[in-house]
Amino acid sequence: MSADLVGASSGDRARVAVVGAGMSGPVTAIYLARRFGRVDIVDQRAHPGHASGQQDRPRSLTVILSAHGWRVLDELGMAEAVRDVCTPLSGRRAHLPDGTEVFTAYGRDGQQIWAVKRDELHRLLVDRAQATSGVRLLFGARVLDVDVDEPALLVEGTEGALRMRYEHVIGCDGVHSRVRAALTRRGFDSQVHRLPWGYMDLDLRPQQAGARWATDAFHYWPRGGALFGAFPTRDGGFTGSLFLPLRGAEFCWDAPRDRLPALFARAFPDLAACDDGLAAQLLTRPINPVHTVHSDRWTWQGTAALVGDACHAMAPFMGQGMNCAFEDARVLDQCLGSGLEWPDALAAYERRRRKDVDAIVAISHEHYLTLTRPPEQAEPAPAQALRQRLTDLFPERFVPLYERCAFTHQGYAEAQRHEQALHELTARLLTEHGPALPGADDDRLRRVTVDSLAERNTPPTP
Ligand SMILES: Cc1cc2nc3c(=O)[nH]c(=O)nc-3n(C[C@H](O)[C@H](O)[C@H](O)COP(=O)(O)OP(=O)(O)OC[C@H]3O[C@@H](n4cnc5c(N)ncnc54)[C@H](O)[C@@H]3O)c2cc1C
Repeated sequence: MSADLVGASSGDRARVAVVGAGMSGPVTAIYLARRFGRVDIVDQRAHPGHASGQQDRPRSLTVILSAHGWRVLDELGMAEAVRDVCTPLSGRRAHLPDGTEVFTAYGRDGQQIWAVKRDELHRLLVDRAQATSGVRLLFGARVLDVDVDEPALLVEGTEGALRMRYEHVIGCDGVHSRVRAALTRRGFDSQVHRLPWGYMDLDLRPQQAGARWATDAFHYWPRGGALFGAFPTRDGGFTGSLFLPLRGAEFCWDAPRDRLPALFARAFPDLAACDDGLAAQLLTRPINPVHTVHSDRWTWQGTAALVGDACHAMAPFMGQGMNCAFEDARVLDQCLGSGLEWPDALAAYERRRRKDVDAIVAISHEHYLTLTRPPEQAEPAPAQALRQRLTDLFPERFVPLYERCAFTHQGYAEAQRHEQALHELTARLLTEHGPALPGADDDRLRRVTVDSLAERNTPPTP
C-alpha cells in the first residue's frame, strides 16, 4: 500500500476529498483548502512531473483562457504566472479551399484571448495546489467506487484497495466520473454522448510553419466535415488538432490508417506541403473521442458535488469547458462561504450554475457548426450582415455572442438571451424592410432599429 494513501486514511484525515487532479481538481482544492483546511486530491494518473506511461504522456493540445478563467486565476493569485506561458491571440484566420484567408477579430476593440499548452497550465495548477497549505495530492490512486452516504472512496493504490472516509466528496473526475456514477445509483439520470467526430493532436514545427502564418491568431481550415485548427506556440511553432467524422465519409477516422496522409494532403495541400513531419504523426498519433455529458443532478445532500466535465462536458469549439469548470469551483466556494450548511450550499451551487451551463453547452455545439462552415467571402447573408451592422451601430447594446462569452463575466445564459433577441430583431427588420436593409445608410438603419425596439418597449441602449 502506498505510504501516502495509508497516511491519508489514518489519524489525520482530511474533511474533503476532491476526486480528479485534471484542470478543475487543483483549482477546487485550492479554494476549499483556504476555507476548510485539509483537502485531499486523489487522481489515478501519475504526478504530471513524473508521467511515463501512454495515458500520462503530456498532450500537445492547446487550450484558451478567457475572462471567466482569468477571474479565477486572479483570485488564486496565479494570473501572472499563467500569463507568462500564454500566447495572446486577437482573432481567427480562416484558410479557405481557394487559398484565400479571412480574418475575424475576436472582439471589436482588439481584445485578446490567451492560448496556453494544456500540460503547461496543468503543471502550474498542480504545483500551486501542492504549495497550498492543507492540500495533499495523492497521485497513482484510482477511485474504484464512491459511497455518497458515508461518504467514502474505495481507492486502488499500488498495493491494493483501501476505503477512505471523508465528510464531503467533490467529483472533478471528468467525463467518466465515478462520483457521477454514484449519483446515478441514487436514481438520477445522466447521459454521456460520444460525438460523431474525433480529433488528433498534430504539431507543426517552428521552422516550417512559423514563418508562414501570423502568430497572433488561431488558424483554421474549414473543409465541410473536416476541420484543422492550429494555435501558435511560444517557440514559434503551432499545435494543431485535426477534427474528422468518426465514420461515414471518405476522409474519416475509420479510413485505413495508411491512407490518412494522402487524404490529409488532398484536403489540406498547403498544410501537407508546409510540414512533411505531419504524415508520420497521422500514422501514429492517437485518435481522441469527444464526449458531452449531461447529468440530471450534480449534488447529493451535503456530501457530494460534481464540478466541470464530470457534470457538463461540452463540444470544445467555444473554448469554454475548462473556463466554465473553473467558474464552477468559484461558485461552489462562494456558496460554501455564504453561511449555509453544506446541504443548502450544495443545492444553491447547483441552482446557480445550471442555467449558465445549459446555455454554454448549446452555444458550444452551435459554434462547431460555424467553424466547419466556410465564412461567406463576398456578400454575407442578409441576416448576418445586418447583425454585423447593428453591432457596429449600437456597440454597447448589441455585443456579439463570442465577445460576451470570452471577454465579459456575464453569465452564459444572459449572453445567450441577448443573442436570441438580436436574431429575432434582425429577422423582424428584414421581414419589415426587405433583404436590402443591411445596405441602408446609418441614419435609416438607426431609425428603423430604434422604432422597432420602441414598438416592443425595448430601450435601444442596455
Ligand atoms: C479538443 C479539446 C479542446 C479543448 N479546448 C478548450 C479550450 O480551449 N478552453 C477551455 O476552456 N476548455 C477546452 N476544452 C475543455 C477542457 O479540456 C475540459 O473542459 C477540462 O479539461 C475539464 O476539466 P475537468 O477537471 O472537469 O476534467 P479533466 O481535466 O478531464 O480531469 C479529470 C481528472 O480526473 C481523473 N480521474 C478520472 N477518473 C478517475 C478515477 N476513477 N480515479 C481517480 N482519478 C480519476 C483523471 O485522471 C483526470 O486527471 C477542450 C477539450 C477538448 C477535448
